[in-house]
Amino acid sequence: TLSGKTALVTGSTSGIGLGIARTLAAEGAHVLLNGFGDAAEIAQLQVDLAKEFGVQVAYHNADMSKPAEIESMIAFAGDKFGGIDVLVNNAGIQHVANVEDFPVEKWDAIIAINLTSAFHTSRLVLPRMRANNWGRIINLASTHGLVASAGKSAYVAAKHGLIGLTKAAALETATTGVTVNAICPGFVLTPLVQKQVDARAAKDSISNEDAKKALLADKQPSGEFVTPEELGALAVFLCSDAAKQVRGVAWNMDGGWVAQ
Ligand code: NAD
Repeated sequence: TLSGKTALVTGSTSGIGLGIARTLAAEGAHVLLNGFGDAAEIAQLQVDLAKEFGVQVAYHNADMSKPAEIESMIAFAGDKFGGIDVLVNNAGIQHVANVEDFPVEKWDAIIAINLTSAFHTSRLVLPRMRANNWGRIINLASTHGLVASAGKSAYVAAKHGLIGLTKAAALETATTGVTVNAICPGFVLTPLVQKQVDARAAKDSISNEDAKKALLADKQPSGEFVTPEELGALAVFLCSDAAKQVRGVAWNMDGGWVAQ
């Protein structure tokens, strides 16, 4: 149980981040949500989560590509909750194009949001975690942190980098009660992947359902999507005492993707 602990999940207004935030709240953690979206919907989400799980739920709109906004968010967490005990670096974006066609500003944004933001949040929460001799940092990498796909150079580079950051930070904290690990999902049907389904449907003139099957058939041997709830359960395990010697891993949950 995580009761009395506070979790920050970046990019938790949608998809995997929201799933993990819900799972951590279900374990009793207070939650600091972050991400973009409709203000009224986010306010409602806060109310619903707090009511369903009996925890405190706050929200900060920091843009994870902006270090000063990340600093404001961690300061806000300090004022509101006394600080962060569980950090889930989840915010991320995707763009698909070959290297020679890759928009330079998209490259910069993907590196900033998918990689550098995790450095900033980690450097800002680690002093408190070390002082408490307890903390969990969970970085949402990807199968693309372990292997590549054509057209995803920035994403693959950022996710490989995120696993590198995970390993280095895990070694730095190895003799403490702070652990740092990465989770590597295969395809999860979130808005980020639905865009790729739409692109596949348009390119091959096939239905939404057939495009989903085609995307999975290319990469994911199970033929099924991973779910945010399954990833949340893995995050809860990584937060548990039983996982205190799990350090610096890049744990794939991917329907067999990287076993091939
Ligand atoms: P999503 O698009 O559903 O959610 C992304 C979240 O990040 C949203 O809450 C969005 O508002 C937020 N976000 C985007 N840019 C931001 C910014 N600049 N500042 C703050 N928040 C920002 O995507 P998802 O599929 O849930 O992806 C979540 C994470 O999981 C990403 O890091 C992604 O790379 C990773 N991942 C996804 C899959 C998949 O198949 N969906 C697979 C492996 C890894």
